[in-house]
Amino acid sequence: MFARTFGGTPYGIEARLIEVQCDVGGGYPSFTIVGLAEKEVAEARERVRAAFRNAGLSMPEGRITANLAPADLRKEGAGLDLALAVALLLAMGAVPPSSAQGTVFLGELGLDGRLRGVRGVLPVAIAAREAGLSRIVVPPDSSAEAALVEGVEAYAAATLTEVIGILRGTREVQPVARIVPQPGPPPDAIDLALVRGQEHARRALEIAAAGGHNLLLVGPPGAGKSLLARCMPGVLPQLGFEEALEVTRVRSVAGLTSPECPLVMWRPFRAPHHTISYAGMVGGGHGVPAPGEITLAHHGVLFLDELPEFDRKVLEALRQPLEDRKITVVRSGVAVTFPASLTLVGAMNPCGCGHLGDPGRACRCRPHEIAAYRKRLSGPFLDRMDLFVEVPRLTKEELLGEGGGEPSEAVRVRVERARAMQGRRLGAEGRTNAQMSVGELEEGCRTSREGRDLLARAIDHFALTGRGYARTLKVARTVADLEGAEEIGAQHVAEALQYRAPEEVFG
Ligand SMILES: [Zn+2]
Repeated sequence: MFARTFGGTPYGIEARLIEVQCDVGGGYPSFTIVGLAEKEVAEARERVRAAFRNAGLSMPEGRITANLAPADLRKEGAGLDLALAVALLLAMGAVPPSSAQGTVFLGELGLDGRLRGVRGVLPVAIAAREAGLSRIVVPPDSSAEAALVEGVEAYAAATLTEVIGILRGTREVQPVARIVPQPGPPPDAIDLALVRGQEHARRALEIAAAGGHNLLLVGPPGAGKSLLARCMPGVLPQLGFEEALEVTRVRSVAGLTSPECPLVMWRPFRAPHHTISYAGMVGGGHGVPAPGEITLAHHGVLFLDELPEFDRKVLEALRQPLEDRKITVVRSGVAVTFPASLTLVGAMNPCGCGHLGDPGRACRCRPHEIAAYRKRLSGPFLDRMDLFVEVPRLTKEELLGEGGGEPSEAVRVRVERARAMQGRRLGAEGRTNAQMSVGELEEGCRTSREGRDLLARAIDHFALTGRGYARTLKVARTVADLEGAEEIGAQHVAEALQYRAPEEVFG
């Protein structure tokens, strides 16, 4: 007898539904899977056999053929096990023919018949909704994630026996409740209230968050650069539901979701070590490409400490995705596009020894060493940074002084107000000044006469390039937005000019 059902498999942060067709016919007993199945999928035969035995079922006598459609799509992982088992149950008449209609089955079968969670449950549930399917059956650990999708009822089953009970109608089950947590700061975020001194850097953080600008912190070791960077997710606007779904989809395909926290309601903070590989940064790996750090940082912060220590090739690979806010990865003929809309925060010492410009300690670097150090970052890469901030080591007075400053939440309120102004001006919620096109820059950056005069003088005095000019104007626009000003004034331009690349470092 012939039967079919649905499973699913993630591609990028999307998923494709897979139709699992099964035929049981006469002939010498065999079990064949066709349809571009990778090794793990082919091994499903053994897991299905063992799970059947443990559920007290015997495999049908005769020739079993399973086909995974569409045939041109590479299938990986063990997530199709359950769909395969259900298709076989249908084909051998062990469950009612219409019991699996409109249902997607997702889960890995253990040899004991238990179901184990798999990657990509959320994207598969979204794909099910888009295909007009109304139910999804998953292992208990994945059920809260599957239940996030409105319009699809999620059912939890711990074993193959429980799935059979659901299909035969002998097991009473309710769909899993949809739980959407309140948005909040990341559990590991550091509050700005804990940061002492560093008024200039705090302000730069606020501007970067308000305008979606990338930020480079330059200062000696121990100045607190990474502490400041870790405050960033807490001052960015809170995630909306759709953004949270995207963040969770990324984590889901990366296998990072947990049953305790089905929906990630905070902005990610990723801080890969400088030894990270090209594939680790942009995505890739064997078989179907996996998301890299730039995608894991989607809607959040990518923090690169010791920036000049990173492999130059890895940094250069960031240039295009920083512009496009997405990355396409091709591996063994499979092209997958991942989102990568993030705020980049870089940190570096001003020179190899770290003490160039440090009043407390003399720099031991020779001039050619200083030049070689700064050359590790290319001009085009540095062009992606909107704000440069010198972070000095704190003085004894500052270190011993009264506590920190304003808490992150107060800063975030101003940031959200400034973002609302940008959304209105740029005609789309979520668009920021950093993303302005040349046309939007012309139209949206109305500047007072004094502001224009100051800009003109800056072009001469600091030898601002075209890019430097655009960058200054964008940052000035953000400073004005933080103030609620429609027009860019001279004071906004003056503040923006403070965040130019420091000359003693980048000369
Ligand atoms: Zn030095």
